[in-house]
Amino acid sequence: MKEEDGARWQQAREKVVWASREMSIRRLVVGTWGNVSTRVGDCLVVTPSGMDYMKLQADDPPVLDLEGRVLLGGRRPSTETPMHRTIYRHREDVRAIVHTHSPYAAALSAARQPLPPILEELAQMIGGEVRVAEYALPGTQELADRVVAALGDSAAAFLPNHGLVGVGRSVNEALLVCEIVEKGAMVYCYASMLGKPTVLDEEKVKWLRNEFLTHYGQKKTTPGEVPG
Ligand SMILES: [Zn+2]
Repeated sequence: MKEEDGARWQQAREKVVWASREMSIRRLVVGTWGNVSTRVGDCLVVTPSGMDYMKLQADDPPVLDLEGRVLLGGRRPSTETPMHRTIYRHREDVRAIVHTHSPYAAALSAARQPLPPILEELAQMIGGEVRVAEYALPGTQELADRVVAALGDSAAAFLPNHGLVGVGRSVNEALLVCEIVEKGAMVYCYASMLGKPTVLDEEKVKWLRNEFLTHYGQKKTTPGEVPG
């Protein structure tokens, strides 16, 4: 292990521990369910299996290569590691993955209903509907392959009768994806009780997604500039 790899891995481990706690605090999971990972080069740092998130320490998450070999020991990796590895192998752009079991997302996943872009936030964060993967047992390569197929190039997919996976360019973004989908799923359930929710058309979704990816967030302003 190179010294700089060691420093990057340690930083990534701290971030994974932070996101796991946040996932629990924000009630996106109950108990030790769910998992978080981040990619560092050709490696990934993933939550250990079945540990209390509030007791996790920075040395607990193991560092693995994309074939699943342990590069830096910690605890035993999450049982959903095949899904994390498979997503990273198929998506160069993904730097972090958060997998939750939040209630409204789980409701849609149990009803096997996709979540259409009914809110601008969903269009911005996901760029289309959240599809439901075909069913496979948890922890299997079959589930991993089916999640990758449902994900396509979007930022989230439902695992049927199970939960949600959100991906992003950072751990913060993947966590936010999971929160936005959970909120969107809740709004979709309520809006469906009130009538038929209006789905944003493809053109608006494309515009919102593009604006989010290219312009959203902070950057430095300079005198004379009219910020757009
Ligand atoms: Zn799960």
